[in-house]
Amino acid sequence: MSQPHVSEKEQLNKGLKGRAHEALTDANLQKALSVIGKGFVNKRAMALEGCPQFKALSDRAVAIKRHTLTHLEHYLEQFEQALNAQGGQLHFASTPGQARDIITQICKEQNAKSIAKGKTMVGEEINLTHHLEDEGFECVETDLGEYLIQLRNEIPSHIIAPAVHLTREEIRDDFKTAHKSLPRDRELETPQDFVKEARGILREKFINADVGITGANLLIAETGSTTLVTNEGNGDLCSSLPNTHIVISSFEKLVPTFEDASTILRLLARSATGQAISTYTSFITGAKRPDDLTGPNNFHVVLLDNGRSQMLGSDFEDMLRCIRCGACLNHCPVYQNIGGHAYGSVYPGPMGAVLSPQFMGEKSQDLPFASSFCGRCNEVCPMQIPLTKLMRQWRQKATNKAGLVANLPMHLWASLAKRPRLYNWAMAIGLPMVSWVTKQKTITNIIPALAAWQKHRSLPNIEKKSFQVQYQTDKKNKE
Ligand code: SF4
Repeated sequence: MSQPHVSEKEQLNKGLKGRAHEALTDANLQKALSVIGKGFVNKRAMALEGCPQFKALSDRAVAIKRHTLTHLEHYLEQFEQALNAQGGQLHFASTPGQARDIITQICKEQNAKSIAKGKTMVGEEINLTHHLEDEGFECVETDLGEYLIQLRNEIPSHIIAPAVHLTREEIRDDFKTAHKSLPRDRELETPQDFVKEARGILREKFINADVGITGANLLIAETGSTTLVTNEGNGDLCSSLPNTHIVISSFEKLVPTFEDASTILRLLARSATGQAISTYTSFITGAKRPDDLTGPNNFHVVLLDNGRSQMLGSDFEDMLRCIRCGACLNHCPVYQNIGGHAYGSVYPGPMGAVLSPQFMGEKSQDLPFASSFCGRCNEVCPMQIPLTKLMRQWRQKATNKAGLVANLPMHLWASLAKRPRLYNWAMAIGLPMVSWVTKQKTITNIIPALAAWQKHRSLPNIEKKSFQVQYQTDKKNKE
């Protein structure tokens, strides 16, 4: 394993502004991010053109999720019963620590040594791979993007493309450093070269793995099935070759029926990668049956809460509809410029700016401020989640917490705005002063707080008289 490049702790210590500044001045990152607009955004647009029923599917999917969340207890019970009937076992974990303990215990009971892991954002949320490595297991990421970031000891920078921040040159160098047994001068330039090399390395890991761990895009209550969507097929090898398969997921992935799952799947691939359907869409139902050719003898589903149940019935319940398609990241001008690591959370972009404060608390309180509020994320979200409204709610909470002194300017403004005569008097005195101050070249000496703002923008020339005064004068002159 190569030396760490960016650890989660280092990222958090820098704060959002520090991380964003670094990202904007990182030439490699900027080069890597430039593909997002051409790739994901254009492909999604083309996919939607070819699917005139997309809006109707979206309306249906929203209704399915609302219904499921309203009757959550019922569908959880149904899921558990169906899963048990298929030889599976359900575990509930309130916290990331509990989820890690449950998974570690299952691995120990199986005397496991090696674990093949598919891509799972809930797994990232609980830092599962590092934990299992610390417990002494060999835990290998088998999704190519996840494998790349494991080599670099980084967190994902995108929820569907974890290594989108890397250039080909960086990948080539990392492979040459990590795969020491292969000839140093081998051809390693194209994505096909990278895939071929990773496949050769990972095949052996799949065959030798005692336990496979994957996520789930959906959980189907009527059959106890978990749904797995991938483009590499690695998830299917993780779920079918090892003797034990563990699915780590969360309750908001539940839908009542197969039919409901198919509605959401039609939105997911189009919104994520612009495909009508992903290369592999697998429905995994319980442990291996006597007449099955392959499959795990032990099948476990671990459902993590980590603050999700507090979102039920709260101002943030809408966020529980998220299907992790990544469309809001791809279309966000802030994400497009700073990439995922600048958010300091495994969930970046607009969806991360809403989810991370719920999961990480104070550490990510600044993320809802990483938005221009252009509303593009709301428009592209297939689950119609009002992301800007939810970010505004977090901002409101942060502002309320900041206390009287931090909010003094706004309180003063509100107090003036409620008293028109006092407001006009203050404007008559204050505006000429403000107008003079903004024309000074050394304004940042007078108001140091403006320095960062002034770096990339100029202050407008402010009129000496307010709009109201100008309007009244104009009106009188015309009479
Ligand atoms: S918030 Fe919407 S657009 Fe963003 S990842 Fe979730 S479902 Fe996709």
